[in-house]
Amino acid sequence: MTQLPLNPGFGVDELERTFTLSELLDLDLYREICASFASLTQVGLRVMDDTRLLLVDAKGRSAESCSALLADDSVQQRCVQEVSRILEKEPEGPWDQSCCRHDCFLGLRYLIAKLFHEGTPIGRVILGPYLPRGQCLGIDGDPDALEIGCRDVLGEKITCLDEADAQKALRHLVRMTEGLIFVGYKSALTSRMHLESVSASFADLKEKNRALRESYEQLKELDRLKSNFLATVSHELRTPLTSVIGYSEMLLEGMAGRLAEEQHAYVTTIMEKGEQLLGLISSILDFSKLERGCLKLSLQPTDIVEVTQSALSTVVPMASRQEIHMDVRVADDAPREIVADEGKVRQVLVNILGNAIKFNKKQGSILIRLQRFARPVCAPADEDVPAVFLTTEEECVCIEVEDTGIGIPAHELTRIFDSFYQVDGSSTREYGGTGLGLAIAKGITLAHGGFIEVESEVGKGSVFRVILPVTHGP
Ligand code: ADP
Repeated sequence: MTQLPLNPGFGVDELERTFTLSELLDLDLYREICASFASLTQVGLRVMDDTRLLLVDAKGRSAESCSALLADDSVQQRCVQEVSRILEKEPEGPWDQSCCRHDCFLGLRYLIAKLFHEGTPIGRVILGPYLPRGQCLGIDGDPDALEIGCRDVLGEKITCLDEADAQKALRHLVRMTEGLIFVGYKSALTSRMHLESVSASFADLKEKNRALRESYEQLKELDRLKSNFLATVSHELRTPLTSVIGYSEMLLEGMAGRLAEEQHAYVTTIMEKGEQLLGLISSILDFSKLERGCLKLSLQPTDIVEVTQSALSTVVPMASRQEIHMDVRVADDAPREIVADEGKVRQVLVNILGNAIKFNKKQGSILIRLQRFARPVCAPADEDVPAVFLTTEEECVCIEVEDTGIGIPAHELTRIFDSFYQVDGSSTREYGGTGLGLAIAKGITLAHGGFIEVESEVGKGSVFRVILPVTHGP
């Protein structure tokens, strides 16, 4: 099979370029065939492409050239010149348009034939030397001019052939070679077309890759702009909102005079809604800080049971409105003190407890369990211990929040931690929220070197687990 090199700049020109003889022939195989042919006919055989590049040089009966067999220097020199003339000779008759013969000064004969592919000459075959039957060896037709010794050696080493047999052998060889060229042409064309289509798809793929990289860079830039925008807007909204809440409080406390009952109710609503809005803005600010990697943790020894109780007390009013029963169980082996940012851990628990209430049914229940968790980790390398045994345990605390709410479908379990993602994201959804609570909880937990996981069954409830290392910081 003809092998063509992969050319990255492959195009129409390449597809239309004509093939060379060496591209069309399986040279190893063809050389083997020519060698068999030469040993069968006992006559040497040479094949050249149209640039005179010698592709095959199969020796016949004599392994050496005539010049090597002759002792006389001047005869040897004439021999060498004769051979180069033969190699240059263009076939133009006499017995065929594309074949010719050449008789050398010693009386030996060569037959030369052109090779064609689709009407175009593509190379030449030279059969010889052989001694035409009935002819004598000599120099320029004079048998006595050649030393007897040389005549004997040549006579022994050079094959004597009938002219008709020699021409028949050459015709067979040409026909067989042109057959091989035709087969080679088909497979070379197929592989060239295959290469063409591969390089076209490669160029197409490269272009798509470039466009994709460009879109990715643009999206990254847009994402960065979005985070900056969120951070700036939230920050600017927070300041006036704090004043709204502050002045509402002052009005409710009667600092600007006693309010009528209806006025009191209105101002209370303004304050409640203001606080709700402030919570939302704070979430967006926290999230954009997490996204930009600007979250700073103030790590210190923290009583995790107290933090849990404090988070619980924050959500008690919300739970009472839904008549939800909440219970905390601390296992005996649960670590109490961990190194953490107390405020941030409280925020994680408030977010999870808030969801456990929000997505619970009326008079449902929530169970909070604190227990020890041993996380397997790779131990530092030790020369004496095989790598497979190099694991150790990291002491962690697991805070588990189990509710009896609506549950989460299995295929949504990984997505709920994405920012702004809500299982029911429709505008008519039953539950309020931004879809940021769990993204923030996950971000803070990861920043502490911990992780967060969830199990759930639709209609039965969910279990969220926050695992935090006892001593390991971010
Ligand atoms: P939000 O509560 O503001 O919608 P979150 O990020 O806290 O956003 O939660 C994302 C989504 O995960 C919620 O909208 C809800 O669909 C689902 N989810 C979270 N916690 C629970 C839970 N305890 N029970 C059922 N669904 C929950």
